[in-house]
Amino acid sequence: MKKLLVLSLSVMLFSLTVLAQGKPKNVVLLIGDGMGLAQIYAGMVANGNKLQLERCKNVGFVKTYSASHFTTDSGAGGTALACGVKTKNGMIGMNADSMAVHSILELAEKNSLATGIVSACAVTHATPASFIAHVNNRNMYEEIATDYLKTDIDVFVGGGRKYFEERADNRNLIDELKAKNYQVAYTIDDVKAIKSGKLAGLLYEDQNPAMPERGKMLPDATMAAIEILDNNKKGFFLMVEGSQIDWASHDNDGAQIVKEMLDFDETVGRVLDYAQKHGNTLVIITADHETGGLTFPTGNIKAGTFDAAFTTKGHTGIPVPVFAFGPGADKFGGFIENISIKAKIEKLLRL
Ligand code: MG
Ligand code: ZN
Repeated sequence: MKKLLVLSLSVMLFSLTVLAQGKPKNVVLLIGDGMGLAQIYAGMVANGNKLQLERCKNVGFVKTYSASHFTTDSGAGGTALACGVKTKNGMIGMNADSMAVHSILELAEKNSLATGIVSACAVTHATPASFIAHVNNRNMYEEIATDYLKTDIDVFVGGGRKYFEERADNRNLIDELKAKNYQVAYTIDDVKAIKSGKLAGLLYEDQNPAMPERGKMLPDATMAAIEILDNNKKGFFLMVEGSQIDWASHDNDGAQIVKEMLDFDETVGRVLDYAQKHGNTLVIITADHETGGLTFPTGNIKAGTFDAAFTTKGHTGIPVPVFAFGPGADKFGGFIENISIKAKIEKLLRL
């Protein structure tokens, strides 16, 4: 009894010390692909002049240029956030000299934290791939799928099932995942039913559908992942991608940007609710780059409408915002390089 009391007291003291130092136990990094200030504001204006994102009081700006280009792609942009190195456009999880670099997810996993990826596109697409794969071309989807088997990632949910089972090398990675004790889910309801253990959620053959066809896949899968990862006493790292803000921006489609933005913001809100309740989770929200060169010459706040003007069908080199909430959030202010985000998370999680 006495021993137990001493033990629980020391656990309490340890948790108090951790909180006092402003160090998080868990980190959730949410990436809105192509989400510049204008995409955020489009969602805000259309949503009655408010977003969940506004609950974050720490805001900064992120420079997104890559090693090869003023304007990054999602491969180099994702790799900068995941691995902390500037690399050439099109590359995944490698530096500009084609050397593989460990991602923050892989570092967390090595340090016995639980890890996860949730994506509103195929899990083999550039942004999620940057956290787990090492290839010199982002279109090597089958090789990227293979890299999921080389880690002990606890949870991954998104599309891209065909890259796991209809492969040129005839390997069936679904069977290999099952042999590694993964529970494989093909629907969001199956994902939500799994509360512990390892989970591979491959919900679509290729890319996830756009909003509103996708339903609550992104927020629901994110919270299902957190419920599983939360079982790990040492903490967890989770990356969540709102993938299709970028695609709607490539299409120069303001109405679709709003739909994708509000889906991402709902996900942000639910993660912030979790972080607020538990007090030990750092939530970081940023983008890999802006897409579309979007701006609004006119609009109407009361009516929730805007006139969208785009300057390109591609990406732009303009810096993107970063928002942070929870212990360590104050480290994400100011004008920062995209590669510094990984280093900050690494330090805060003591990896
Ligand atoms: Mg992406
Ligand atoms: Zn893009």
